[in-house]
Amino acid sequence: MEPIPLPSGFLQEHCSLPQQEKIKLAESLDKEYPIGIRKHPFKKLPFVHTTPIPWCAQGAYLLQKQNFALDPFWHAGHYYVQEPSSMVLEQVINQLSLNKNPIVALDACAAPGGKSTHLISLLHHESVLWCNEVSKSRSLILQENMVKWGFANQIITNNPVSRFKKLEQNFNLILVDAPCSGEGMFRKDRQSRLEWSGASVAHCSQRQQDILSDLMPALAPDGILIYSTCTFNEVENEGTVKWLLSNYNLGEVKINTQHLPGLEAGSYGYHCYPHKFAGEGFYFAVLQNQGGVPRTKRKEKPQSSMASHVREYVKSHFNDVTGVMSHFENFNLVNEAVLQQLRLFKDQFYFINAGIAIASQKGNRIVPHPHAAFSHQLKGDVFDCIFLDHLQALAFLRKQPIGSVESENGYKLVLHEQAHLGFINVIGTRYNNYFPDEWRLRLQ
Ligand code: SAM
Repeated sequence: MEPIPLPSGFLQEHCSLPQQEKIKLAESLDKEYPIGIRKHPFKKLPFVHTTPIPWCAQGAYLLQKQNFALDPFWHAGHYYVQEPSSMVLEQVINQLSLNKNPIVALDACAAPGGKSTHLISLLHHESVLWCNEVSKSRSLILQENMVKWGFANQIITNNPVSRFKKLEQNFNLILVDAPCSGEGMFRKDRQSRLEWSGASVAHCSQRQQDILSDLMPALAPDGILIYSTCTFNEVENEGTVKWLLSNYNLGEVKINTQHLPGLEAGSYGYHCYPHKFAGEGFYFAVLQNQGGVPRTKRKEKPQSSMASHVREYVKSHFNDVTGVMSHFENFNLVNEAVLQQLRLFKDQFYFINAGIAIASQKGNRIVPHPHAAFSHQLKGDVFDCIFLDHLQALAFLRKQPIGSVESENGYKLVLHEQAHLGFINVIGTRYNNYFPDEWRLRLQ
């Protein structure tokens, strides 16, 4: 196949590096890119050959490429495949102690969920992470990834960010991983070289300002704003931060770069350049709100009570439960912070998920919800289990026959080694596969 050259204009007109550095950057963009995974903090992974990523405790470089779609552990949310530079987020969260106390956090441009799955793994368990995605189709991918990651303290919405204007001072942390011209993808996705134009830089910069101005009212006094892109140019990076600093009462927060070898400080924010940093092109800046007077918090309504048989079911099947809510015929594992956000804002947003749906009321029975399999709080040993080998597991994920199941009637948890894949309901000699249709593995 003919190699796709870097777009003309990218280095000459849009890259602010010195000439020698431009050459090194261009050379690095024609090399192989490193493959990163980030492990789930609570789900176990069988041994795979990896090298640690210094800035992310659960991050690892894979020594060879894999077809992740054929790995049941990937489907069960035991790890997330993520470009290593994006994992620098962990340094910001930990260094600013945003993981130490309960906070209300927003990932405003969240799909497909790389940073959301990372953030929720780092935050305090009494925090809530609100993940928003404007595109309907992408919000469904976000939902799949977040549900499979299995944390109860999540909210997923599918709204334009302008909707957040009204949520004055609601968030202690806002992450804007902005849509951008994507120059940082030129190595990993060579086709992206064909989609770039100088005009897209100007267009993206305006869109970034629009997104940020919609979100700024929702940032709490002292709140942290993390702005990031996967592009190199100054217009969308330093230019956007300069615009923020001159239009809002924000101060720049500096990061300790000790665990970030090769990270380059720009005039504002930080760059991961692939010729210096072991990852793809990425930029981030950390800003703190210095304006506004904290508003008094609204009085809370008491939590609605749950029927005792539901409480018993939840307690016996899940660990460390702090909240459950009923949602149509389902029961969802949540925490108090999720409930509070829903109480305050449920009429103003299109909520596509809150917490993890764990059970449904069917007549007078409580049965497991397909999503329950992915909750890291699930007590696997209370269910009857069906263990599948690798080929059977793929058949289950494709919703194809898995062979004869010799078991008593009822709901069974389906596993491949330690990976929870879903539930089947055995009825005599047949069974129903409850793996969600929309997540079905299509690759043969
Ligand atoms: N944070 C994600 C992750 O780590 O997996 C990647 C986010 S991607 C860089 C930017 C996202 O912004 C895309 O999902 C895109 O659909 C969304 N987006 C595009 N235009 C937008 C707009 N005008 N307002 C808000 N989000 C937008």
